[in-house]
Amino acid sequence: MTSLAKAPTYAHSGKATPRGLVFGFASLVVAPFLGALYAVGIFTIPFIYLNAILTLVFGGLLGFGIASALRSGEVRSAFLSLAFVAVGTALAYYVHWAVWLNRLSEGELALIEALRPDVMLDFIGGVYDVGAWSLAGNDVSGMALGAVWAVELALIFGASLLAGFTIATGDVYCESCGRWCDKHDDVLALDGTADPGALQSRLAAGDLAVLGELPRVTQGDPTWFQINLQRCHGCGQTNTLNLDRVTLTADDKGKEQRKEDRLLEGLLLTPEQADWVTRVGGGDPSYAG
Ligand SMILES: [Zn+2]
Repeated sequence: MTSLAKAPTYAHSGKATPRGLVFGFASLVVAPFLGALYAVGIFTIPFIYLNAILTLVFGGLLGFGIASALRSGEVRSAFLSLAFVAVGTALAYYVHWAVWLNRLSEGELALIEALRPDVMLDFIGGVYDVGAWSLAGNDVSGMALGAVWAVELALIFGASLLAGFTIATGDVYCESCGRWCDKHDDVLALDGTADPGALQSRLAAGDLAVLGELPRVTQGDPTWFQINLQRCHGCGQTNTLNLDRVTLTADDKGKEQRKEDRLLEGLLLTPEQADWVTRVGGGDPSYAG
């Protein structure tokens, strides 16, 4: 039994740019307005199911927007991006409370007052005791209301950080050219019946030959292995490979669901290797594509 050495994989350099920080701070200015919109939305819409969707959309948009702002400023630090996402989400969440309390009090509590932490906490405590709205005819207050708020908080920050993480870590940056790489999805699709562990460990060891040995996926198969590349079209030197296992299933309504499991991420390739993988998949490795 030979243990295979791990081939190098891509990691962000951790670098930031002044432009990226300016974009990041600008997104922190915008985030509270999104919080205000969200508060008006959940206050106006009386359906808890729609509120939950709105909560997820609100969190997702915050994480996506803030992390995208830093990405467009060429920040290559997931830590920094997620720190901005966390702060922006906290600001938006805070402002949402003030606007929501302002609406609930029918304007009796001025927005500027509601923004004061002591006043805000005082009013939240009051709503906690008496309840804010009815659920199936029962006034929801106390622990039950607190539980709803806790779930809301978890959904907002969960969606926000997940979306932010996806944006902050999904792309490869060419440090020598100073640009994000181009994505080439579905370069090669291989038969899904192969042993995923063996494929994964050979690729992780840099043994690309396995890609030429396995049969290609047959049209209509519900599962396959998918190879995606990211390539720098400036210098051509930065190239990475991702391996995903894709599974199609039908849900109980017969609607197709696509599930992707990432088995390997960011394996670094030489330009020749990236060209070779593209050719194995039947593609044209010329940079024009
Ligand atoms: Zn480059």
